[in-house]
Amino acid sequence: MTGIYIHVPFCEKRCTYCSFYSTTHGKKERDAFAHALIEELRFRRPKEVVSSLYFGGGTPSQLDDDELTMLFKALRENCVFVDDVEITFEANPDDITLEKARQLVRLGINRVSLGIQSFDDRMLRSLNRRHNARQAMEAVEMLKQAGISNISIDLIYGLPGQSIDDWQQEVATALEQNIVHLSAYALSYEPGTVLYRRLNKGELKEREEELSLEMFAFLTKQAESAGFEHYEISNYARPGFRSRHNTSYWTGVPYIGLGPGAHSFDGIRTRRHNLPKLTAYNNSAICPANENGVFADVPHETEILSDDEHYNELIMTRLRTAEGLPLSLIDPQRQAYLLRMSKPHLKAGKLTLSPQQELRFTAKGIFLSDGIMADLMAV
Ligand code: SF4
Repeated sequence: MTGIYIHVPFCEKRCTYCSFYSTTHGKKERDAFAHALIEELRFRRPKEVVSSLYFGGGTPSQLDDDELTMLFKALRENCVFVDDVEITFEANPDDITLEKARQLVRLGINRVSLGIQSFDDRMLRSLNRRHNARQAMEAVEMLKQAGISNISIDLIYGLPGQSIDDWQQEVATALEQNIVHLSAYALSYEPGTVLYRRLNKGELKEREEELSLEMFAFLTKQAESAGFEHYEISNYARPGFRSRHNTSYWTGVPYIGLGPGAHSFDGIRTRRHNLPKLTAYNNSAICPANENGVFADVPHETEILSDDEHYNELIMTRLRTAEGLPLSLIDPQRQAYLLRMSKPHLKAGKLTLSPQQELRFTAKGIFLSDGIMADLMAV
C-alpha cells in the first residue's frame, strides 16, 4: 500500500502566518502545473496499490473544473486504488459552492479538509484569510448537502489578541458544525511570514505558554466530551474517521509526493523532496527531453536517513500518536538510551510504557510533547 500527496502551490493571496510553499500566480501557471504534474505522475507511477490520496497546498480548491477533471483522469489511468480509497481535498471555505462540492463528489473525493482557522471575523481579517465565519459555516453545509460527510476543519489557537473566552467560543462553534474531524495548531511564528516580521518589529507579542496550554487543554476536554478521540497531538476524530493519509506519515507507510515542494518517503530510509520552485517544475514538462528524448523527472533532492535521523524520526512520528512508539521498532542498543532518557518523564507521569512495550504520552505529558520529544532524541 502507498499514499499519494499532491501539492497544489497556488493561493489567491497569502495569509499572514503561513510558511507553506505557494504562489499567487494565475491560470496560465496553473495549467502548466497541471500538465507537469501529470508528467511527474506518469514518470513516478506508484507500483503499489494506493490507499490514500491527499490534495494539499497551497489551495487545491483554486484548481478549476477542467484542471481537476484532467488530473483525476490521469490519476485513474496511472494508479490502482483500493476500493475504499480515502481521497482528501483541502479547500478554502469561500471556494466552496454547491456546484463545486458536487463536482468534488463526482470526481470521487470523499473527504474535505476545510481551512477555517477561526470563526471570529476579527481574527480572520488579521490573518488575511479570504473568508468570513458565515462562509465557513455555509461551506460545511454545502459539502454535506452534496454528500460529503467526512469533513475536517482546521483551527489555530494562540492568535494575537485571542483570549481564553474567545477560544472557548471558537471550540463551541466548531463542535456545533457536526464535523467528524478536527485539527488544531498553536500559532507559530515562522521566518518569512508577515506575523514573524511584525513580532520582530515589536508590533505583536507572542502568547504566553500557559495560555496556549490552557487553550489546548480546553479543546481536548471539549472534543473528548463530544465523542472525539484525541489520536494525534493536534488531531481529533470521531471513531472511524481518523485521517488515513496523515496516519500513514506517523506510522511509516510509504507515500509519493507530487508537485513542487512535495515530500516522499519509501517507508524505509529514503526521503525525497521536490524543490519548491514552480517555474522550474513546470519547465521540466515543457522541455521534457533529456539526451534519450524522455521526460527526466522534476527538480528534487534525495536523502537517505542515517541511523540517528531514522531514530529521531521514529520519536517525532510514532510518539505523537495515541498508540505510541513500540519499542520493538528501536534497535536494542538505542532502546537502552531511549529508556534512560524517558525515565524522568515516566517517573513524572508524563510518559507511560504499556504492557505491550509501547511508549506513550499521558494526558499530562501530551501538553509538553515538544520538550519531551527533544529530550528523547539522539544528539
Ligand atoms: S494558509 Fe493556506 S491559503 Fe493561506 S497562504 Fe497558506 S496555503 Fe495559502
